[in-house]
Amino acid sequence: MNLGISGKRAIVCASSKGLGKGVAEKLAEAGVHLTLNGRTEETLHATATQIVEKYHVHVQIVAADVTTEEGRRKLLAAEPQPDILINNAGGPPAGLWSDWDENDWHKAVNANMLTPILLMKAVLPGMISRKWGRVVNITSGSVKSPIPQLGLSNAARGGLTGFVAGTARQVARHGVIINNLLPGSHETDRIHQLMQSNAAREGISVEQAKAAAHAENPTGRFGTTGEFGAAGAFLCSQYSGYIVGQNLLLDGGAFNSTLG
Ligand code: NAP
Repeated sequence: MNLGISGKRAIVCASSKGLGKGVAEKLAEAGVHLTLNGRTEETLHATATQIVEKYHVHVQIVAADVTTEEGRRKLLAAEPQPDILINNAGGPPAGLWSDWDENDWHKAVNANMLTPILLMKAVLPGMISRKWGRVVNITSGSVKSPIPQLGLSNAARGGLTGFVAGTARQVARHGVIINNLLPGSHETDRIHQLMQSNAAREGISVEQAKAAAHAENPTGRFGTTGEFGAAGAFLCSQYSGYIVGQNLLLDGGAFNSTLG
């Protein structure tokens, strides 16, 4: 399927690995030029090289912490007028509701709520004036069904979800489309860390923790970054113009419900 976005320009935050990289690759496959981001320059460089060699699009890298004002400034200086923005950052640490102090809460809200909101605020005016734009926020299945050990994520991403619900409906008439992608468990470094933490808590091996998580899912497995990236690229396509302010859950059916 031709997504109709060849030649567009995208900022993909936190995209040297994992889900962000998955979306970046599918955008590149659709002919989108990329600004990639991550904190570790070597990984970022390796990902950029891989994508350029495979898809022949223009790729620039910005090694910076997207959750800082300085990081966002660098990103926007490199690509001031993106057609597409993919918001993403690392997830907060696991723990219990009783573990986190005020500073932990500030960090989580900054990374998983304020950072995407501030980036949207920066790029939406240009998208509105050009009458076309796409924003996809990578959030989490935790906004729909809370994950007990990820209270920081449940709450901070819930705030972002509320912002998107209102804002997406205010900018859609200008051809600017904002949606959220909610990952369930996907095969990335992040899920490996969570499996390590589950294994330690339950006194089992990481392999046993993974096998148990696979068995719980209706598909019997974790999702792939390729599947996730393809859904993200579709939400950035010419065909997503009537999908507004939605929360697309990609969890292999783990959330058990008849509707919604
Ligand atoms: P990952 O495999 O650990 O990859 C994270 C990527 O983001 C890396 O490229 C990392 O590079 C970059 N990054 C992290 N913090 C950053 C920052 N502050 N500034 C710039 N780049 C940063 O994680 P993932 O699994 O793709 O997860 C992505 C997001 O989805 C996270 O917020 C995670 O909590 C959420 N999520 C994931 C799953 C899952 O199953 N994988 C499920 C639900 C939600 P550097 O470390 O070099 O910066």
